[in-house]
Amino acid sequence: MSGVRVCLQNCVRWGQAVIVGVVALMVGGTFASAAMPLNETPDTIEAVLGEWEPPDMDAVISIRECGETLCAELVRHKYADINTDINNPDPVMRARPLLGVRILDGLRRVKADRWKGGELYDPRTGKTYLSKLKVIDNNHLKITGCIGPGLCKGYVWRRVPHMTTLLYTHAAFRNHEVPPGHVEHPGRYEVVEKALEDKVFATLDRRIPPQVSVEDIERIHSTSYRELVEENAPAQGLAQFDADTFLGPSSLDAVRRAAGGAVAAVDALYAGEAKNAFIAARPPGHHAEPERAMGFCVFNGAAIAAKHAAGVHGAKRVAVLDFDVHHGNGTEAAFWHDEGAFYASSHEWPQYPGTGRETDRGAFDNIANAPLATGAGTHEFRQAWGERLLPALSDFGPDFIVISAGFDAHRADPLGGLQLDEDDFAWLTREIAGVARDKAQGRLISVLEGGYDLPALAASTAVHVKALMEA
Ligand SMILES: [Zn+2]
Repeated sequence: MSGVRVCLQNCVRWGQAVIVGVVALMVGGTFASAAMPLNETPDTIEAVLGEWEPPDMDAVISIRECGETLCAELVRHKYADINTDINNPDPVMRARPLLGVRILDGLRRVKADRWKGGELYDPRTGKTYLSKLKVIDNNHLKITGCIGPGLCKGYVWRRVPHMTTLLYTHAAFRNHEVPPGHVEHPGRYEVVEKALEDKVFATLDRRIPPQVSVEDIERIHSTSYRELVEENAPAQGLAQFDADTFLGPSSLDAVRRAAGGAVAAVDALYAGEAKNAFIAARPPGHHAEPERAMGFCVFNGAAIAAKHAAGVHGAKRVAVLDFDVHHGNGTEAAFWHDEGAFYASSHEWPQYPGTGRETDRGAFDNIANAPLATGAGTHEFRQAWGERLLPALSDFGPDFIVISAGFDAHRADPLGGLQLDEDDFAWLTREIAGVARDKAQGRLISVLEGGYDLPALAASTAVHVKALMEA
C-alpha cells in the first residue's frame, strides 16, 4: 500500500467533486486521521504538515502540500503488504486503505484547540460519515469520526519524530545588508526559499532559528572578536570588516541566527526530533576565523555547531565536511589543534582564500584537503571524495557531522572555476549521509555556504535537501 496518494482538495480537475481537508485512516473499527488546513497561512499549514501516527497502531501518514492542494500518503502500515478486501469480515482489512475527510463548515484554516466539522469520505463506496477535528498543539491532532449512529470514536494523533528533515529559515537572512552589486545579496536567500516551497519539500519541519548564545560563539571565536562584531554592527549604513564583508542594521540578527539555527539543529537531533537538518542561512560562515571576519563570513556556524555537539552533548569526535568551491580557512583554523575535530574540504586551487594545500593536515592529522584544478569536474570531485576524503572521515569515526554546503563549485557559478552540476552535490550528500548512518547514528546537519548563480543555487539546494530527506 505504500505510495497510496489521495487528492484532498480541488480534485475537480480529476473529474471528482471531492474538496477535502482531511484524510482519515480507519483501522479495526477505529478512526484515526490527520487534519490539514487549506493554503491560507503558513503557520496553520505548518501545524498539520509532516508525518503522523495514530494511537497504538503501526501506521504513518504523511501530509504535504501538492501545489494548490494538500495530499496525504500512507507511508507505512503494518499490513502494507496485504491487499485491501472490501468484503473481508476482518474490520482492519475491510477498512483499509484510506478514507478521505471533507470539511463541512467552510474550513479555510485550522486553529489550535477549536473543533472543525467535517465528514469522512470513503472513496471506494462513496459513502460519507460525520467527523470533526482540532489541532491540539504542534505535535497533536484530535480526530473524532462516526461510522454510524453511536459509533463515534476520537483519537489523538501524534506527530512522528525521527522521520523528518528540519529546515531553518528566517527573514533576517534576507535582510542582511550588503553594498549594491555585492555578489552575496538577498536574492540568494529568496531563490533558496522559493525552491524549498516546492511540494516535494512540504514535509520539512520548518523552524525558526534562534540567536546563537555568547557561550556558543566563543566555542570558536574569541571574546574580543565577538565584541568587535557586536560593537561595530551599525544602526544605519554599513560597517566594513574586510574587503568584501559588511554588516548593516539587520546583519547582526542574521549572523546570530545563522549560527543559532545550526546549534538548534544539533539540539533537535540529540533530542530525537528529526533525522537531519538544513540551515538556509546567509551570509555564509566558513571563512570566519576565530579572530576575524572575512569572505562575507562573520560567525562560523558550521564549526560552532560541531563544537556545540561536543561541548553540550558529549560528542567525542565531530566533523565538518566542506564542498564549497572555496577552502574553509576559518573552519580549518578553528580545528587545526583540536584532536576531537575533523575538517575535510574539496575546493578549487588556486582560488580565494589561498589556503587548503593537500599537505596541510592539522596538528593531529585531522585536516584533509583536496584541492582541485580549475576546470575539474564530476570525475575529479567524486574521486577526491570517494577515494580520499570520505575514507578519511570514516577512519576518523565521527559521532556528529556538519556539512558546509556551498554550491559555488557548480559549473554555472560566476566565482568558481569547477564544472560540477546538481547531480554531484546530490551524490555527495547521499555518500555523507551513508557515513553518518554507519558511524554517527545518522546525526547530520547541513549549513548553506556559497553559491552565486541563482538558478544553480536553487537547483543545487533542492537536490541537496531532497537527498537529506531521503537519507
Ligand atoms: Zn564559496
